[in-house]
Amino acid sequence: MADLRDMYQEVILEHAKAPRNYRALETPDRKAEGFNPLCGDRCTIYLMMQGDVIDDISFQGSGCAISRASASMMTQSLKGKTTREAEELFQNFHNMVTGRNHHDQEAQMGKLAALAGVSAFPTRVKCATLAWHTLQAALHDEREGERKGEREPITTE
Ligand code: ZN
Repeated sequence: MADLRDMYQEVILEHAKAPRNYRALETPDRKAEGFNPLCGDRCTIYLMMQGDVIDDISFQGSGCAISRASASMMTQSLKGKTTREAEELFQNFHNMVTGRNHHDQEAQMGKLAALAGVSAFPTRVKCATLAWHTLQAALHDEREGERKGEREPITTE
């Protein structure tokens, strides 16, 4: 088990150092900003939708290794998923990092399982879920942001 944890640690550090899909989309269909006041993590999620399917997803932000790695892995996991699949994955991910998942569920999480160790550190759960909460805000945005102008960043509280 120690070896597995070490490997997870490496995956997290590698994603934090070279996050995937780390860029702004020029004309996103949807966009949301998130902030985790506990740690100071910031995250902006950009979405291009094809009907109900996430056609492209990217993020930008600053923060700790866990928040960056989590956002990076999330964007990799969500390309091509429907909004419903994305919300199911978020539910499973949330259960995993809060220690409520069974181990067989963890096996279905793919590379996201690298963040399972976060459940041992309750103060870091918000770091790991910031990108996902921000994603939810973006998915439910329905272009309201464009109509109402810039909104306050959501927080993970
Ligand atoms: Zn953090």
